[in-house]
Amino acid sequence: MKNTLEFAKQADNNDKLKSYRQKFLFPQHAGREVVYFTGNSLGLQPKTTQQYIQQELDDWAKHGVEGHFHAKNAWLPYHEFLTEKMAKIVGALPEETVMMNQLTVNLHLLMVSFYRPTKQRYKILCEAKAFPSDQYALQSQIKFHGFEIEDALIEVAPREGEYIIREEDIFSAIEKNKDSLALVMIGGVNYFSGQVFDMKAITEAGHKAGAIVGFDLAHGAGNINLELHNWNVDFAAWCSYKYLNAGPGSVAGAFVHQKHLSNTDLPMFAGWWGHDKQTRFLMGSTFVPMKTAERWQLSNAPIFSMAACRASLDIFDEVGMNALIEKSKQMSAYLEFVVEDISKQKNNCLQIITPKQNRGCQISIVAHGHGKPLFNKLMENGVIPDWREPNVIRCAPVPLYNSFEDIYRFGEILKGLL
Ligand SMILES: *Cc1c(COP(=O)(O)O)cnc(C)c1O
Repeated sequence: MKNTLEFAKQADNNDKLKSYRQKFLFPQHAGREVVYFTGNSLGLQPKTTQQYIQQELDDWAKHGVEGHFHAKNAWLPYHEFLTEKMAKIVGALPEETVMMNQLTVNLHLLMVSFYRPTKQRYKILCEAKAFPSDQYALQSQIKFHGFEIEDALIEVAPREGEYIIREEDIFSAIEKNKDSLALVMIGGVNYFSGQVFDMKAITEAGHKAGAIVGFDLAHGAGNINLELHNWNVDFAAWCSYKYLNAGPGSVAGAFVHQKHLSNTDLPMFAGWWGHDKQTRFLMGSTFVPMKTAERWQLSNAPIFSMAACRASLDIFDEVGMNALIEKSKQMSAYLEFVVEDISKQKNNCLQIITPKQNRGCQISIVAHGHGKPLFNKLMENGVIPDWREPNVIRCAPVPLYNSFEDIYRFGEILKGLL
């Protein structure tokens, strides 16, 4: 690798996915596309999204309520149009996958079924400094069941002076609490450091201890290889507006492993969209649960946000996760190379805290002695990374629409500012 424009352009020329950049709308700065490194926060808009939503607006105008049956894409089963493509991305069976609600809502709904604390077994293990919404969700579930947060929540932290959580520390915490552990609930990819956890091994360890294992995949879905079914994960939830480009606040995803689907006695919060489809409109007073992940649906589907999600999932389906991951590895390696090259020229002030192996496309950088003002200046100069307190600049070159030249340009602007 070389930190030169020539090298970056050559890498773009060799990139089999380079045409996909043209399928997305980029914010502009000073007459050109910004260096957009925030696909891990809000993915860019596919150019096709507008027509997918327009189709539903047109069908609403044309059919009114009859659109539930007669829209080009009938609204009644609309969520089903997303299921198979979504399932492929997370390594699930279609029956294990559903698009519904928002991420935090789904975490709660799934914990209603899968966090069933008893006097002996009531603890939840998570990573320290989990995304705030996950912390609030876990804490409120614990309180809801009448337990004390200090006693019931086990947070595994990086060791003193380290940024990355050692997996051995997760395993030993599971082992240590094996008689009282009810649930392991971890962000599969840490939003701050970009660390990817060995979800297969954590699932095995959790199960061995007699606990249920769930993952928040907000930073995993559409970013890394996931095999939720094969890994035997109990449940998972993710949003669609980060790597999946479905637009701000768009509909989220949920996974429930096949092995739980035949158990119709699972406690849950129910709504009419989780009722058996054949008899839903008989409007009976007894809930008849579906034997798929659709059981956890409460309400009829938000069609416009589903349409936006569908536009993006169609692109993912065309490209495939394998090709994306291959390019993602090349891009994060190149970004790492460029950052280290610049750091050497600038008193080693840049430290990458993301692990070299277990990561997706996000690289988290600590700029010693610079901090937030450096981030602000990057923004003023047409780069959009993001800032996470207290000291991290997150950069996610996403394989679907970022280029190697983006990475080179980022490096040049960064170097100029240092
Ligand atoms: C982005 C993110 C969320 C956001 O939750 P919403 O319910 O979609 O607002 C939650 N958890 C994690 C780990 C995230 O990265």
